[in-house]
Formats: sequence, C-alpha cells, structure tokens
Amino acid sequence: MRDQDDMMRRGIGMTSQRTRERLIQRLCEEGVTNPRVLDVLRRTPRHLFVDEALAHRAYEDTALPIGHNQTISQPFMVAHMSEVLLEDGPLDKVMEIGTGSGYQTAVLAQLVERVFSVERIKVLQDRAKERLTELNLRNVVFRWGDGSEGWPALAPYNGIIVTAVAPEVPQALLDQLAPGGRMVIPVGAVGETQQLLLIVREEHGFSRRVLGAVRFVPLLNGTLS
Ligand code: SAH
Repeated sequence: MRDQDDMMRRGIGMTSQRTRERLIQRLCEEGVTNPRVLDVLRRTPRHLFVDEALAHRAYEDTALPIGHNQTISQPFMVAHMSEVLLEDGPLDKVMEIGTGSGYQTAVLAQLVERVFSVERIKVLQDRAKERLTELNLRNVVFRWGDGSEGWPALAPYNGIIVTAVAPEVPQALLDQLAPGGRMVIPVGAVGETQQLLLIVREEHGFSRRVLGAVRFVPLLNGTLS
C-alpha cells in the first residue's frame, strides 16, 4: 500500500512537471518577481495538500476546497503575500493565522527562519502537520487556537500573515508585531469587497498600504475539534 502511495505521488509529480512550470509562468505574468518565491512555489508539491480527487487540479491558479467549508489559497495569493512580506529583506519569525491545508505554511517555511502557525480547526491542523513532516519541513510550530488572539507567548513577530478575512485588523495582532515588523492581512466582509493590506510597525504607530481587492474565507471566533 505504502509503495502504491509513493508511486502515485511520483506519478502525479512527473505528469505535473509541465503543468507546474505553466503555473510558475502564469505567476510571473501576474507580476510575481521574487525569484526565491517563484522557486519555492515551483518546488512545493501542491497536489499533496488537496484530496486525491482534486490532485489533477492542484497546479491551476485557483483556490480549491479542503473540507470544513475551507479552501487552500490560490497560488498567486500565496506567492504575492509571501513576496510582500519579504519585500524589505529576510524575516526570522513569522506568525501565520489560518494554517488550513498547510500549503502557505510550507511555502513560508522555505522562505523564513521559523513559522508559528495558528489554526482553529483541529483536524485541518493535524493533517497539515503530517504533510509538513512528510516534506521534512521542521522549522514550523503549530498552535490550535483562535488566531484573532495571535500567539502572545512567543511574540513579537517580524512578520504576520493572515489567510482569512476580518472586518478589522485584530488589535492583538498589531500588538504582537515587532518594531519594523510587517503584516499582510485581508480586511472586509465576506461576499463584499475585501482589501489586502500591508501594515508596517513604524517608530510611532503603524503605516498601511492597500495592495488590492481579494477574496478570502472569514476569520471565525473560537475553536473546532
Ligand atoms: N493558507 C491556507 C488557507 C486556508 S483558508 C491554505 O492555503 O490552505 C483559511 C483558514 O483559516 C481555514 O483553515 C480556517 O479554519 C482558518 N481560520 C479561520 N478563522 C480562524 C481563526 N480565528 N484562527 C485561526 N484560524 C482561523
């Protein structure tokens, strides 16, 4: 069974080599320029982050369902958010809110020193953990909890990335941003216009840059086992 699984993975890997390259080309056309980000997207097997039944669509530039009403983020969004986060230089401590499938987590783990990833749905988190172990990405720690509270015990973070939309930027996340730290977060309401923001902690207060219109699933309260 194990062998069969491995063959399946390799098989998908091989047949998708061209498809993967096409995705990278598309990301370039859409304006992603950071070569490290592009390289990490090229190397990260997105088909392992979705159900086998959807694996053949893994290298399309779209969000896909991962169960529990959640989606794996669109590759462009993952690349774009990572690129913006890294725009000012390397980062050592990054907190991610909304682990989901773990795809964005896996990408970040290859771009920054340490990732602290918070997810409210336990089963999604467990599966994401397994995938990252399988890919031998060891610089990630996970927390099951409500990400609107962040992860105060390990704060501050040089980078914060939020992959679910809230009506406003949660104060706890602003509080946990290190001086000079950067946060990329979608803000707005579900079904309405949402905007991706870059927030930087300056010497006095925070600066905000609107990066454009986006569509994310909502940041919800509480936890779910
Ligand atoms: N980057 C993920 C996207 C997952 S969708 C991926 O590529 O797979 C957004 C995720 O945010 C979902 O898994 C959802 O359960 C999670 N989420 C929503 N509200 C949350 C909260 N308050 N705290 C932590 N995670 C939350």
